[in-house]
Amino acid sequence: MMVGSHVALGAASWLVVAPHLGQPAVGLVPLGLAVIGALLPDIDHPKSWVGQRARPLSTVCAMLLGHRGITHSLFAVAVCTWLLVEHGFSEATVAPLVVGYLSHLGGDLLTPRGLRLAWPLKGTWALPICRTGSASEPLVVMVALCCAIVATVGLDRVQATVRATGLCRLVPDLPAICQALGGPPSKAQACPPPAAVERQRARVAAPPPARPRPPTRAAGSEPRPATAG
Ligand SMILES: [Zn+2]
Repeated sequence: MMVGSHVALGAASWLVVAPHLGQPAVGLVPLGLAVIGALLPDIDHPKSWVGQRARPLSTVCAMLLGHRGITHSLFAVAVCTWLLVEHGFSEATVAPLVVGYLSHLGGDLLTPRGLRLAWPLKGTWALPICRTGSASEPLVVMVALCCAIVATVGLDRVQATVRATGLCRLVPDLPAICQALGGPPSKAQACPPPAAVERQRARVAAPPPARPRPPTRAAGSEPRPATAG
């Protein structure tokens, strides 16, 4: 995947995972560490974003290890985690780095080339959904981000935000999406119709105005004669 996709997935992964680890999700330091972790595996590629900035090291890594070798394996995750913990780094530092690193592996796993996750075993693992740099890559990242947002803030708040924007009045296909987000509530609740339609409905539903009824004469009573003057 491209560097932008790894950055987005790294940050999104941390936002989702952090609450489950008892860590602050939103914060410049943990998010930055997650992004760094999400970029680190491509140190084995001299032309990658991180490889260009660590050129001597990335060139050596590429020559000795090859791209998507050990740095893209669970073995690397385990070794890096152990090294960081052994050198006294706190959980607040290690956790976002590891989560970001794993998000990189997850992203690359979606490309046809796949990964040797179980390095040094030779098997390649892949869930080929999109090619690196293809038009479908941003789409896949967007879907992953939407899932991350829903998982982070909850479906109820996402649903309320969609309703509040009123977007479903403007885009014809959005009512179905609103309905899906809204779940049990009716379509009218999920996507309120425009004001003109609402007024027309009110006119149709309103009962006709009551006509004045003629006065009824009580039994046995005579009409009083009109008195002049
Ligand atoms: Zn990679």
